[in-house]
Amino acid sequence: MPTKITLPESELPTHWYNIVPDLPVPLPPPLHPGTHQPAGPEDLAPLFPMDLILQEVSDERFIEIPEEVREIYRLWRPSPLYRANRLEESIGGPARIYYKYEGVSPVGSHKPNTAVPQAYYNAKAGTTKLVTETGAGQWGSALAFACSIFGLECEVYQVRASYDQKPARRAMIEAYGATIYPSPSDRTEAGRKILEMDPDTPGSLGIAISEAVEIAAANDDVKYSLGSVLNHVLMHQTVIGEETLKQLALVDETPDVVIGCAGGGSNFSGFSFPFVREKLAGKMDPVIRAVEPAAAPSITRGSYQYDFGDAIGTTPLFKMHTLGHDFVPDPIHAGGLRYHGMAPLVSLLAEEGIIEAESLHQTETFTKAVQFARAEGIIPGPEPTHAVASAMLEAERAKENGEEKVIVFNLSGHGHFDMTAYRAYFAGELIDYEYPAERIAAAMKNVPVVAG
Ligand SMILES: *Cc1c(COP(=O)(O)O)cnc(C)c1O
Repeated sequence: MPTKITLPESELPTHWYNIVPDLPVPLPPPLHPGTHQPAGPEDLAPLFPMDLILQEVSDERFIEIPEEVREIYRLWRPSPLYRANRLEESIGGPARIYYKYEGVSPVGSHKPNTAVPQAYYNAKAGTTKLVTETGAGQWGSALAFACSIFGLECEVYQVRASYDQKPARRAMIEAYGATIYPSPSDRTEAGRKILEMDPDTPGSLGIAISEAVEIAAANDDVKYSLGSVLNHVLMHQTVIGEETLKQLALVDETPDVVIGCAGGGSNFSGFSFPFVREKLAGKMDPVIRAVEPAAAPSITRGSYQYDFGDAIGTTPLFKMHTLGHDFVPDPIHAGGLRYHGMAPLVSLLAEEGIIEAESLHQTETFTKAVQFARAEGIIPGPEPTHAVASAMLEAERAKENGEEKVIVFNLSGHGHFDMTAYRAYFAGELIDYEYPAERIAAAMKNVPVVAG
């Protein structure tokens, strides 16, 4: 049995997969924040270049990847699929475990899979600068890298809690030539408003999005770039799942369980949507599971309704699982999972029962991640510790029940810049925050009521 299942560069996918035409029910459209009418491409034009807007609303099943983008993808793609032989031994039992490893990208996560095409289409459209938010810094470093390749300026608003916890990511973002500010900042009206209400706020992805959107909307040649949630972002990530399908076929495996962690939903979707396609076509029937943190359990505890993508209500309204746009999750170490909502596509699939979701506390995910690291060598980023833990718990259940399950998960990135989180774990200082029922109820009161 091979340890690494690799594909030659000639097997790099030629197309992204757009799941929209395969959905069992139509995707509810985003709504204009003021009128609550369906938002058209012209509403998105101040923020995104037209090529990306057309992808956002496309119902074509496959969209060709430009050769300029494939050339950059080849720096790290196709990424390896590992058979977790030593982890299987350490757990015992009959389960076979595979993981797709996206930590081989230049910045150590799946995020460049979309940062590169986003920078490419912006450069092609004459954008001079991209503005964005970042949580843990993974997205900021991915976009900074992509902007450096296509000659764009890049400005990053980083969630305060992560800005303070992860100075190495800041330096990395600066190494690629971008500028970075902690969010909330006093550079935007949104930031100033939130600082006035709570000067000590740890910040949130929703707040940082408000700041970046405000700056992009005010300048014609400045655009905004989002690292997750939107349809086109999820679509760019499907190279992960397309490669994994081919790799599993090489070793004659069909998965019983497909697992990814979910913050905004991009790595989970990119990994799992090609499997959802095969499942809907009746070619396989795996359980497909999104794993979220107990501190921001949007799919498992949120409600499926229209809400804003940012914290102060400037973006369009998206029908999604939400905890309320002004809900600020506790400062768990998985900064990339601290988001109040979930991608509309993931939300719809969960609502239709095609995928399932689970939430885990960080002490458990880090306990499993350390066992994983000692067996496999790779130290997972705090976000994918959720996928690692769910896969290992699945393997433990398979052992108890004597089931020969094939478990496949996405290891979305390594944790080399997140070792303060592991230090906190080893010092016994990780906090498993209680379910913040009251704060979520308060935030849900501020979600606009949308007819229909
Ligand atoms: C950003 C990030 C996530 C969470 O974002 P999704 O859009 O849900 O994938 C997960 N893992 C890693 C490594 C990340 O950088």
